[in-house]
Amino acid sequence: MTQEKTEKVNLLGLSVEKLTAFFESLGEKRFRAVQVLKWMHQSGVDDFAQMTNVSKALREKLAEVAEIRAPEVLKQWDSADGTRKWLVRVEGGSAIETVYIPDGERGTLCVSSQVGCALDCSFCATGKQGFNRDLTAAEIIGQVWIACKSFGQLEPKGPRKVTNVVMMGMGEPLLNFDNVVDAMNLMMEDNAYGISKRRVTLSTSGVVPALDKLSEVTDASLAISLHAPNDELRNELVPINRKYPIAMLLDSAKRYIDSMPDTHRKMTIEYTMMREVNDRPEHAEQLAELLRDVPVKINLIPFNPFELSDYQRVSNNALRRFQQILLDKGFTVTVRTTRGDDIAAACGQLAGNVNDRTRRSQRYRNAERPVHIVG
Ligand code: SAH
Ligand code: SF4
Repeated sequence: MTQEKTEKVNLLGLSVEKLTAFFESLGEKRFRAVQVLKWMHQSGVDDFAQMTNVSKALREKLAEVAEIRAPEVLKQWDSADGTRKWLVRVEGGSAIETVYIPDGERGTLCVSSQVGCALDCSFCATGKQGFNRDLTAAEIIGQVWIACKSFGQLEPKGPRKVTNVVMMGMGEPLLNFDNVVDAMNLMMEDNAYGISKRRVTLSTSGVVPALDKLSEVTDASLAISLHAPNDELRNELVPINRKYPIAMLLDSAKRYIDSMPDTHRKMTIEYTMMREVNDRPEHAEQLAELLRDVPVKINLIPFNPFELSDYQRVSNNALRRFQQILLDKGFTVTVRTTRGDDIAAACGQLAGNVNDRTRRSQRYRNAERPVHIVG
């Protein structure tokens, strides 16, 4: 990295407010922010010289003090089923993974928020890596930029391929609050990606104090990684539950949903299913009781085995039985299907690397193994 690079402001991750303030600090009019926002996020332009509706003098000034820099794509894999995965280099030499999953009219991008994760859920490959650092807002929105650009979505009137974004890649988004919020708001911003708030989802394992603040800054959709119907079991699977137990988490999530101006919004409950751990009929019964008065749709996720874990994937029978119990009680219950097997693309199970040799070799071993992906 050159000295010059570090001194320039990277405009890619700036929210509308921050970009506006930046132009004001240059003595420029506010509407310049919208112009540049559109060039970056709707046309995929990262060179000021191409911004033809901006005066030449301003373009030259911008080139001196600012830059538009997305993280670098190290590798791209394409699955036979249309799933695409990128290995993305972020500053400091680490790498993260981003996955695109097409499904009929829908195209979901699974975006990472941190390099590694500190929360160490017992069934999660990312957690096993430990935590390296937060991604910057530019590195988070940069994953959307990379995906849209690779599909030609950033050309004027190009086909829209990325219709949904889920913050379900590596990391706990609520532990990187400001950067994640700025990036999500850009995803939903009309002058940037313009994705509807129902189609941008933050997934959390339950950082309650941060969740309590979320409604003040965004109205994106919410997914709660529950994985267990009682505290005893959840303490084991999701250690942050010891600090913020289920009742506290669901109360906070309910407050978030209730604060939305539009009615009929529901949170998603994610439930990763491991054989003989959380897949029994009594777990389904308990879950139904727990969620009786909570506006939810439930997403059952068969566990993806990985090297450092002793858990096993739920059997199909147990999964169907579990689903049926919940369906019979009137819940909406979907099951995440397996996608991108041939390119090892698993949302929430992404390894990336945390810039240390042991873990890097672990990642490459994992990358050759077929794993499951979000649906
Ligand atoms: N930290 C956030 C977001 C990233 S993890 C969170 O925990 O919600 C997103 C999802 O990945 C989790 O809900 C979990 O369901 C899923 N996940 C993690 N490890 C998995 C595994 N080994 N198999 C299947 N799903 C997994
Ligand atoms: Fe972190 Fe989410 Fe993995 Fe838990 S499941 S370790 S919170 S990335």
